[in-house]
Amino acid sequence: IVHLCPFLQTYRKQKYPWVQLAGHQGNFKVGDQGSILKKLCGKEEACLKKLMNDSLKPFVPEFKGRVVTDEGEIFLELQDLLAGFEKACVMDVKIGLRTYLEDELAKAKAEPKLRKDMYEKMVHIDPTEPSEEEQRLKAITKPRYMVWRETISSTTTLGFRVEGIKKADGSSTKDFKKTKTKEQVLAVLKTFTDGYPDVVKKYMSRLKDLYSVLEKSKFFASHELIGSSLLFVHDAKNAGIWLIDFAKTRPLPPEVHISHHDPWQMGNHEDGFLLGLKNLVHLFQVLQEN
Ligand code: ATP
Ligand code: MG
Ligand code: MG
Repeated sequence: IVHLCPFLQTYRKQKYPWVQLAGHQGNFKVGDQGSILKKLCGKEEACLKKLMNDSLKPFVPEFKGRVVTDEGEIFLELQDLLAGFEKACVMDVKIGLRTYLEDELAKAKAEPKLRKDMYEKMVHIDPTEPSEEEQRLKAITKPRYMVWRETISSTTTLGFRVEGIKKADGSSTKDFKKTKTKEQVLAVLKTFTDGYPDVVKKYMSRLKDLYSVLEKSKFFASHELIGSSLLFVHDAKNAGIWLIDFAKTRPLPPEVHISHHDPWQMGNHEDGFLLGLKNLVHLFQVLQEN
């Protein structure tokens, strides 16, 4: 459905603050009460359409269709998951053991130009990481950077990483690039849930429900989910977890079946989604026991 919407600016101001924990600022607009607008990505729209008819629907923001602005820009209208919460705490957890598509890595490998900017970024984070050769060149290739970048957070080891957190007081942090060990992640989850007595239990039960729905979902069985997040939202009364960001979710090639759990090798399409989810459940369990 295409809603032609000539006066997007007349959208009512929201009564609660909205926060964006990842992505480019320009990609989102606050929509009508209860909606947000995300810049159109055709592949993401295709996923959302399928998800509206899948058993995963209760774990995904409702997709309400397209919205076209005055300038002719197309947005996807999505249920605002923060609506209904009061002074929400929000956490974006990117799931999976890599956040690039196999195609993206293959493309980078096909033209392995030496990048000084990526070398600088690497040295800034870990001066001991570049090889002697790389140090001599003061440059690294893009695929080298892409693969390494996933190892500085918990992505490659735990199958998820925290991208950002917003607390009830409005303060937010995205400073989790090097949060890697179980202990470090646990400390982050603890600060996120501190002061909300029942929230860990609520999140645990939601994660377990999600797990059992994923096992039955046709969508999940037939797609590779890269760069998707679980959005955790709670306030003093309620807690919820939803799956967001399907811009890098792709239908699996015919005949390809993935476990969402086994290690990834170029060509096997494994995304580590269930591995990440299991590790998250485990850490919430540890939180609950302490
Ligand atoms: P990236 O690819 O860098 O992760 P993106 O541009 O694809 O970013 P998303 O990951 O979809 O964008 O969303 C970015 C942020 O916006 C999320 O971390 C979350 O804070 C917020 N957000 C996204 N969708 C919703 C939603 N339906 N309801 C509430 N907040 C949302
Ligand atoms: Mg995202
Ligand atoms: Mg994205």
